[in-house]
Amino acid sequence: MTLRVPFDNSYARLPARFFTRIDPMPVTAPRLIRFNHALAADLGITPGSDDEMARIFAGNAVPAGAEPLAQAYAGHQFGGFSPQLGDGRANLLGEAVADGKRFDIQLKGSGPTPYSRMGDGRAWLGPVLREYVLSEAMHALGIPTSRALAAVATGEPVWREQGALPGAVLTRVAASHIRVGTFQFFAARRDVEGLRALYEYTVARHYPEARDPAALLEAVIARQARLVAQWMAVGFIHGVMNTDNTTLSGETIDYGPCAFMDSYHPDTVYSSIDAHGRYAYSSQPDVIVWNMAQLATALVPLMPDAEAAAESFTRIVHAMPGQIRAEWLTLFRRKIGIDSVRDGDEALIGDLLARMAENRADFTNTFRALATGGPARDQFLNPAAFDEWARTWRARLEGEDGGEEGARARMRAANPAFIPRNHRVEQMIAAATEGDFAPFARLVEVLSRPFDDQPGAADLARPPAPSEVVQQTFCGT
Ligand code: AMP
Ligand code: MG
Repeated sequence: MTLRVPFDNSYARLPARFFTRIDPMPVTAPRLIRFNHALAADLGITPGSDDEMARIFAGNAVPAGAEPLAQAYAGHQFGGFSPQLGDGRANLLGEAVADGKRFDIQLKGSGPTPYSRMGDGRAWLGPVLREYVLSEAMHALGIPTSRALAAVATGEPVWREQGALPGAVLTRVAASHIRVGTFQFFAARRDVEGLRALYEYTVARHYPEARDPAALLEAVIARQARLVAQWMAVGFIHGVMNTDNTTLSGETIDYGPCAFMDSYHPDTVYSSIDAHGRYAYSSQPDVIVWNMAQLATALVPLMPDAEAAAESFTRIVHAMPGQIRAEWLTLFRRKIGIDSVRDGDEALIGDLLARMAENRADFTNTFRALATGGPARDQFLNPAAFDEWARTWRARLEGEDGGEEGARARMRAANPAFIPRNHRVEQMIAAATEGDFAPFARLVEVLSRPFDDQPGAADLARPPAPSEVVQQTFCGT
């Protein structure tokens, strides 16, 4: 059987300055680690033999219909603007079109491109498996995200601080790879024609109902507001919310030093490169507003009257914090089993979170215990702190739809039992580096059903022992 992808490559038909056509660079000994058959079926992809797929998803063979290219973009990285970034280690093979939906198929870690700057264009096994596990877990949690179609080992070493590490390539699937930074790329060059082509392309691909740049901005903001609220609701910290890592589609993208929190604290930061905590858990709503302000700025040249545009775009961006707040409140109401809307709800949720922070309660397990009727109080250093809160909470639940049972059902669907815990991800990477991929396969399986009780996987729901706590995560390079 031959691998077949229903390619139709619209990005490759955009003006030449949007990208550089370049094939992935072959590797010595490609070996298929995993292929996501369920995702492939959704994308209308016919799988091939393991050997063929290893070659294709390592970049040693270009599948029929692909037109590999590296995309150009710019971006604010930790607040500083880089006018020239781009895919420094990725090749967009093309777009798979199935059931009227279009998805980018991209190899990541597939060799240097003109945008590589000082980088080697490669990825090592650790970040590849990490992105596979985390992006698929996010999808199973119901959060818009890029997906993982395949992971391949290259058989070549990659040199990093730690020394020689096994190389790998990830095949990433996304609604598109259009970033805020893609708009900034053209705006920074005062290339209004390019900007307009990108705008029209983005509207046609993602927001056909948007009739002008203001409508596009509003639509992207609505999706990003919801997305960040969803991250907050599962304790996810993206870690590198640079504008080149913020999509127009509203999907989570670029799994570098991201992490899920164990014990709750709003100031939590894991990324080794985020020394000042710019992208801390509780800063994410502010950062996404800032990123949307950068998108707004990049859209201004499309408007006939810059001053009027600046004014109307400012109004749109200023409304975003309220939208995030509303999304956040909806999700956290559900997390504590509340269906109706009352004035004191935000304070009730805030009070729980404050007590969790003070008592180092595990974020995931506290909310899951509310759902299952388990001993949530045991998550708290001082269990009485929970009991006090729970009295007010139980009073609030009275009169809710379906009583306590109804509340439990709502909470079970909102509060996962399983998240990719950092220490398990690190242990999985350590095992894979030694050639044992069983922990990887197990994580992928268990995390594909995060809301189900899985008694056989209780170990994966446990927070880290003190010796297992991961203090820092490192960027995907
Ligand atoms: P990231 O921090 O992963 O969003 O990457 C920021 C930029 O650095 C992007 O343009 C990447 O393509 C580029 N980059 C990251 N790692 C490498 C690498 N190993 N080789 C070449 N370019 C890289
Ligand atoms: Mg990036």
